[in-house]
Amino acid sequence: MTSSLATVSYIGATILFILSLGGLSNPETARRGNVFGIIGMTIAVLATVFGPRVTPAGYGWIIGAMAIGATIGLFAAKKVQMTQMPELVALMHSLVGLAACLVGFASYVDTSIEFTGAEKSIHEMEIYIGILIGAITFSGSVIAFGKLSGKIGGKPMLLPGRHWINLIGLLIVIWYGREFLNAHSIADGMVPLLVMTVVSLLFGIHMVMAIGGADMPVVVSMLNSYSGWAAAATGFMLSNDLLIVVGALVGSSGAILSYIMCRAMNRNFISVIAGGFGTGGGAVAAKGDGEPVGEVTPISAVDTAELLREAKNVIIVPGYGMAVAQAQHTVFEITQHLREKGVNVRFGIHPVAGRMPGHMNVLLAEAKVPYDIVMEMDEINEDFPDTDVSMVIGANDIVNPAAQEDPTSPIAGMPVLEVWKAKTSIVMKRSMASGYAGVDNPLFYKDNNRMLFGDAKKMLDEVLVALKS
Ligand code: NDP
Repeated sequence: MTSSLATVSYIGATILFILSLGGLSNPETARRGNVFGIIGMTIAVLATVFGPRVTPAGYGWIIGAMAIGATIGLFAAKKVQMTQMPELVALMHSLVGLAACLVGFASYVDTSIEFTGAEKSIHEMEIYIGILIGAITFSGSVIAFGKLSGKIGGKPMLLPGRHWINLIGLLIVIWYGREFLNAHSIADGMVPLLVMTVVSLLFGIHMVMAIGGADMPVVVSMLNSYSGWAAAATGFMLSNDLLIVVGALVGSSGAILSYIMCRAMNRNFISVIAGGFGTGGGAVAAKGDGEPVGEVTPISAVDTAELLREAKNVIIVPGYGMAVAQAQHTVFEITQHLREKGVNVRFGIHPVAGRMPGHMNVLLAEAKVPYDIVMEMDEINEDFPDTDVSMVIGANDIVNPAAQEDPTSPIAGMPVLEVWKAKTSIVMKRSMASGYAGVDNPLFYKDNNRMLFGDAKKMLDEVLVALKS
């Protein structure tokens, strides 16, 4: 392939990626967005493999690597449960970071292209910054993977003087950056490069370990953004324009998502990075230990069905538990049944419900719930006082009134769905355990609240049977 054809292919792929991002911003166009992305990526891979910079001698290596990668990808796609997707995404981000580090070291020791003068300094700065971002992304994402999968506890690790530790790390990175740029040989430059890599790896670990459970959504989107910048840095090191553009697209869209998440949680970005939210101002949050702290009123599936049958307006609020139970299809059947009986059923989606951005939208779309009854939190929150039944399915933190009512609560200030303002709220979960942020939920003890204990899928199946009988 000639270099001009490769350039044209890269431009085509870039346009497809932009169309893909546009499509993914709305559930109705998301499928089309995915198709654009797949076509764009196919063009990008073909144009790179058959492009002017790969010689036929390299084909064996490339095909071998692609076969291994594709096998792992196919295996993961088949094996990983929907509830494990957030962990998988975190792991994927870590691979982008690792790739940036490896490409950085390889470009540094590669002597096939001679750089001199300003070009040499620019190339070395690309390497230094690329490895820096890559290492932070890598170690931060591995820790995020551990936290999301429950292998590492959700409680933040707040070291004394942690801001000073970060500052010292930054100064070391700047100092060794100077040493690196002034090095006279590859061997000389390798020491500062390795020191900076170790400091960046430690910084990534420290940064994510300090994040409280409630702030994890912001961290997931922030690492998504970092992985984009790491890819862009790799593009600079390899002088690959497509990688620079795609990396910048991922980096900036991840940054926008982080901003949206921060706004959804009423948090500012700097305090998220500083760590500790969901911890009661530094103290570790009270973890739900399954012990009730007051009187709760249980309800049966049959009585739930009765309340739903008599209601005119119902709002369903799904959360992580719906994903765990895979209850979305039964939720759809119940919705369909009630709508046929003239009940106005709508869904209220909190921006951080579940364990990844858009988690609930994906599940409801999979179950074919019509998009026009799926509302964002801001669109539906005012309607709860006119609602007969609000049905909370496996959600907890996102419906916790303590966020509004208790200024000392670790999640004070986070906007929540005001389900308790409905005539009756029903919370469907297995026990009294707390949610991801580890904070007790006073909603359970409210007079107009009922608890439907049990696995969400099992209980909803029973509700459906009762509704139909
Ligand atoms: P929560 O984690 O607050 O609550 C989920 C509830 O579901 C639990 O209390 C659990 O209670 C219940 N549950 C679990 N399994 C089942 C089951 N099989 N059947 C019925 N219920 C079940 O989830 P929310 O969606 O309310 O809130 C999301 C939380 O996750 C927020 O704190 C958010 O910050 C955090 N987060 C969000 C991310 C995102 O991008 N969206 C990323 C990372 C974290 P029980 O055990 O009693 O059944």
